[in-house]
Amino acid sequence: MTASEIRKAFLDFFASKGHQIVPSAPIVVKNDPTLMFTNAGMNQFKDIFLGEAPAKYKRVADTQRCLRVSGKHNDLEEVGIDTYHHTMFEMLGNWSFGDYFKKEAIEWSWELLTDVYKIDKDRLYVTIFEGDEKEGLPKDQEAYDYWKQYVPEDHILLGNKKDNFWEMGETGPCGPCSEIHYDNRTDEERQKVSGATLVNADDPQVIEIWNNVFMQFNRLKDGSLQPLPAKHVDTGMGFERLVRVLQRKSSNYDTDVFQQLIQFIAEKSKKTYNSSGIPGDTDWNTAVAMRVLADHVRAVSFTIADGQLPSNNKAGYVIRRILRRAVRYQYQYLGFKEPFLNTLVPILAGQFKGVFDELWSQKDFVQRVVLEEETAFLRTLEQGIKKFEEYTTVNRQGSNSAAVYRDADVIQSLRNELDGKFAFELSDTYGFPIDLTELMTREIGWTVDMEGFNQALAEQKNRSRAATAIDTGDWVIVKDDDSIAFTGYDELETISHITKYRKVSAKGKEQYQIVLDKTPFYAESGGQVGDTGQLVFPDGEIIQVTDTKKENALIVHFVDNMPSDKAIGDALTAIVDPERRNSIQENHSATHLLHAALKQVLGSHVNQKGSLVNNEYLRFDFSHFAKVTDEELARIEAIVNEKVRENIPLKEERNVAYQVAITSGVTALFGEKYGEYVRVITFDDAFSKELCGGTHVKATGQIGYFKIISESAVAAGVRRVEAITGIGAENYINEQSKLIHQLKELLKNPKDIGKSIETLLEENNKLKKELEKSVLEKSSGLKNELAKKVQDINGISFIAEKVTLPNADAVKNLAYQLKDIVPNLFLVLGADIEGKPNLTVMISENLVKDKGLNAGNIIRELAKEIQGGGGGQPFYATAGGKDVSGLDKALEKAKDFIK
Ligand code: ATP
Ligand code: MG
Repeated sequence: MTASEIRKAFLDFFASKGHQIVPSAPIVVKNDPTLMFTNAGMNQFKDIFLGEAPAKYKRVADTQRCLRVSGKHNDLEEVGIDTYHHTMFEMLGNWSFGDYFKKEAIEWSWELLTDVYKIDKDRLYVTIFEGDEKEGLPKDQEAYDYWKQYVPEDHILLGNKKDNFWEMGETGPCGPCSEIHYDNRTDEERQKVSGATLVNADDPQVIEIWNNVFMQFNRLKDGSLQPLPAKHVDTGMGFERLVRVLQRKSSNYDTDVFQQLIQFIAEKSKKTYNSSGIPGDTDWNTAVAMRVLADHVRAVSFTIADGQLPSNNKAGYVIRRILRRAVRYQYQYLGFKEPFLNTLVPILAGQFKGVFDELWSQKDFVQRVVLEEETAFLRTLEQGIKKFEEYTTVNRQGSNSAAVYRDADVIQSLRNELDGKFAFELSDTYGFPIDLTELMTREIGWTVDMEGFNQALAEQKNRSRAATAIDTGDWVIVKDDDSIAFTGYDELETISHITKYRKVSAKGKEQYQIVLDKTPFYAESGGQVGDTGQLVFPDGEIIQVTDTKKENALIVHFVDNMPSDKAIGDALTAIVDPERRNSIQENHSATHLLHAALKQVLGSHVNQKGSLVNNEYLRFDFSHFAKVTDEELARIEAIVNEKVRENIPLKEERNVAYQVAITSGVTALFGEKYGEYVRVITFDDAFSKELCGGTHVKATGQIGYFKIISESAVAAGVRRVEAITGIGAENYINEQSKLIHQLKELLKNPKDIGKSIETLLEENNKLKKELEKSVLEKSSGLKNELAKKVQDINGISFIAEKVTLPNADAVKNLAYQLKDIVPNLFLVLGADIEGKPNLTVMISENLVKDKGLNAGNIIRELAKEIQGGGGGQPFYATAGGKDVSGLDKALEKAKDFIK
């Protein structure tokens, strides 16, 4: 079976068991502060498990793109080194939401593996949870008994909490699980050593393929387990591992999922993929590097396609690091000194056509982003290598230039050991993974001070942990009501109740988060900021809401303090700040008009890549490969303002079936998780139609006026436009016209300001030139005058005079001119330049040589007379000072130096 046949067979099988097949959620997680990336198929159903949202279907199956590179599930360091952990992988899953439980889950997984896929039963092992005394959890006898119907007892193994109790993160839904493992060794090996002893023992040929989790608990912050409202089944089977089993390969990379990429890399690097090397040898390094590339390009491409650009923080930084890991391998082991990874993107996109189409439709964009990142990183890599070479040359043992390096810690490395702090700097600033630094030091016979490196690393980790530590308390339930109604599309004031709240502390500041059963407060999402406002209680207490955010299905209101205990359970009035909300809406509706206008003027390749809408302005990032010209910007602005003047009424449709909406041609965003029913916002059917959950003006006229204030680049192939509307635009225009008015007044109200400023500039230029000319004339007059005042002292032509010139340059000119015409010159000039004393000493080179005179030393002495200081070269030096009256004294003193 090919990989796509295997995927299809899975989905068909569960469809035949009454499961609804749903699409994969995006790989980048929004609205969940505990998770950056989807790390399991169950993530998108978390709120159903927690009872925070109803399940539309009781049985669901899908293939979910997952990423395990951060947080509780982080396999990054294994990837490429072993043959069955990936960064991005597909997780095939089937779910029961309060419907079937262990019996069916076990029966069907067995049926699928052995009947449909025809896997050799003898090679399969299953594990069940042995129980845990500390947690007060019993052995999962129920699962054991069901397995016994299909599997001989010596193939049913007990597993501990680590392997058989599945948890998504530090908190959240969890439960005992039952894994299925496959023994891929030869018959001979299996005879010798029983597979049972190798399960969960990191043997690369005895691997876990499927995990059936029986969701029963919610892990709370204090570590305790709370039973979930209902029991659920959550399963996850690693697609690439399943393919490997069915295609009878001993490595995931030997299957058709990866071979196309591997072969392409082999061809372009002119190396062969040979997976039988031993750690450390060339074949091994080459094979690991090829696996890393074939794997990492998937993680990088899918996250970019799902809207996460590489950046310097959070999710963006995780992606950047994965990308750099790949670049480092291709650079170090495959001989690619120029960008290469990006050329894998189109191949990958082609492979996933029809499975995850978001990559195919953005492949040019994604490739471009990867190319740009590679280029930038190769540049830092080169800088780092230079830095490394500098360091090792300067600090080589016995080198007397070591003193040049100012840092005492660095000098200690005279033992030909690379300082740990320096190794850390290489990794932190230049992206050098420590193993690369180690390799480079080994190549020149050095070692790395690993203790120092680890210490620096730990210090940095502590710093960032302290900076971001947020302590989130458990929810305190006030009212057992899981329904949450958002009323904010229709009204800004709603009577409601607190259903739960919790305390949150970050950076020493305490805050509370409140959930209401009904709320008009819009929670930050889709770029639109959260509402602020008030909660008014019957006893007159008023609590300010400072922000509103989403957490899964919850709408969370941020407040600085809680109402009194008495008021907590009362009905309250939730009131959104209406002015702020209006400004936000104007900017949001204008964003839709802008998006449509951009597509019209620049082309249909324009896709939203980021958006911020607040009460002050709007910021819109979109894919486009060139700078938007002034002329294009003007056209875009004109189109939007035309639509504003048309005063197009808002058409808001709340429950449109997703497919119906898409066929009608709405603009949907990549990386957004849309439900089956969506909200469509239309301003003129023929102009702007978007899927959107945000709030909008009733008619475009409310936007008032739309003004673009900037256009810039944010990343490769991504441009940014910032604009203002309504009162913000009015204020801006007023300021601009006030400025013009002021200019006019300054210029005495000319007819044409531009012309008049031009004339002014021309005049100014002309005057400058005339001034320069007259200064020149003056100094050459002076030159002749001074040349006549030469005194011969011991064969030296001595001149010490006070001159009047407009600037220091003119004095310098004069000194150089005199040197050219007076042989054996010893010249001291004193000048008063706009109230400040200036001294210049000029000495002919032959005197410097023969008589040991030094202008620099002399000027330092003379400068004392004008309360100043200076310096220069032996033949020419200058000084400035504070006291003009000292000039004469300084000139008198000059003679002392040649007497
Ligand atoms: P392992 O112990 O092999 O790391 P796991 O216990 O972390 O696996 P689960 O969290 O139970 O795995 O995930 C369910 C299934 O997803 C696993 O049975 C496996 O087939 C697959 N899987 C898990 N992690 C990866 C990964 N990094 N790459 C590919 N497949 C994976
Ligand atoms: Mg794991």
